[in-house]
Parts: sequence; C-alpha cells; structure tokens
Amino acid sequence: KFITFEGIDGAGKSTHLAWLASFLRDKGLEVIVTREPGSTALGEQLRQLLLDHRQAMHAETETLLMFAARREHLDKVILPALERGAWVISDRFTDASFAYQGGGRGVPSARLEILEQWVQKGFSPDLTVYFDVPVTISRQRVQSARTADRFELEPDLFFERVRQAYLQRAKQFSERIRVVDGSLSLEEVRTAMVEVVEKFWSA
Ligand code: C5P
Repeated sequence: KFITFEGIDGAGKSTHLAWLASFLRDKGLEVIVTREPGSTALGEQLRQLLLDHRQAMHAETETLLMFAARREHLDKVILPALERGAWVISDRFTDASFAYQGGGRGVPSARLEILEQWVQKGFSPDLTVYFDVPVTISRQRVQSARTADRFELEPDLFFERVRQAYLQRAKQFSERIRVVDGSLSLEEVRTAMVEVVEKFWSA
C-alpha cells in the first residue's frame, strides 16, 4: 500500500508520519518511510537546490525538478518496495506539486497533469492524509522550529493559496484524500489519523 502525507509547512505531518510508521510496524508490517523531494541520492541533491533560499528559480524550473526527483523516487524507492509487499509512506507526493507549484506559484493544473501522466503513468497513492491547519498556526510552528528554506520565506498569502489548493484537491479526490484537522492536540490528531488508516485497511 502506498500512503502519502500532505499539508502546508508546519502542519505536523512529519511528526505524525514517524508515529504512524512505528504504529504499523508494531502490527508486523514492513513500512518504508520516504519523502519528497528527496529519498534518492539524486533526489536529495535536487532537494538542496530546490530549498536553497539563495537561489531563485522560475516556477517551471521548480516544477520540472520536483517531477525529476519524483521519477527517481518512484523508480528507486517506491515501486520496488511496493512490489515486494511493503507499505510505503511518503512525506509529500504529487498533491504537493498541485498545491505548491500549482496553487502557490500559479503553474496551470493542465501542465501539472501532463507531467503527472508522463512520470506516473496512472500510478497514484492508495490513500492520502492531508493535515489541514490555518496559515497563522503553521507560521508559528515553523518559526519556532527551524531556519527557513526557500518556500518558508514566502509570504502568508502564498501559503493561503497552497492551503486552498490542497482543500480543493481534497474535495475533488474525496475517496483518496482524507482531511485531518492538524490544529488539534497531538493526541487528537493521532486518533483521527489512526481512524482514517484503519478504515482504509479494512476496506
Ligand atoms: O515537507 P518538507 O517541509 O520537508 O518539504 C520541503 C519543502 O519543499 C517545503 O517547504 C515544501 O513547501 C516544498 N515543496 C514544494 N513542492 C513540492 C514538494 C515540496 O514546494 N512538490
């Protein structure tokens, strides 16, 4: 099974992902945890280029590099793991491109769909958990947690557009994408997340 976690920066997805992975491992599953952009040697190099705040780039360059990293990620990590029966949980996947490069940077969805089809050939996650938080909350969390990357230096308005794009996708793909309120307490978010995954599991 292939599960992806999505949310704006500071939504808490990485923390929840680590917890869910050990929860599933305790049930005896082989779980591979991975992230985008990154997770292969080339992908991590692309990640460094993409996140470097000293280097501006065209929105289409950014989009192409994200999909280039994704192609490697699929080929070297995701598909081989799924083939041997492991579960794969990825911290971000293609929905992030629709939210950040699409909603955030204004790249038309039709172009993203072409790249998606080209790179994924119909492949998509079995389940996506989207952690929804208001921009004000995500901002507070990011500022207290770490030094900003190129995206985190964007104004609130950028993140508003990213969030709206995520919410719109969640509506459009309501079977696959489950929304969890990421502004709740850690415990409450976990409970909601486990409920979503168990429902998916037993379906
Ligand atoms: O999830 P994480 O915060 O590690 O992601 C790294 C950065 O890459 C984030 O700031 C995110 O906004 C950005 N990103 C993006 N488009 C993607 C994937 C990630 O802008 N498709």
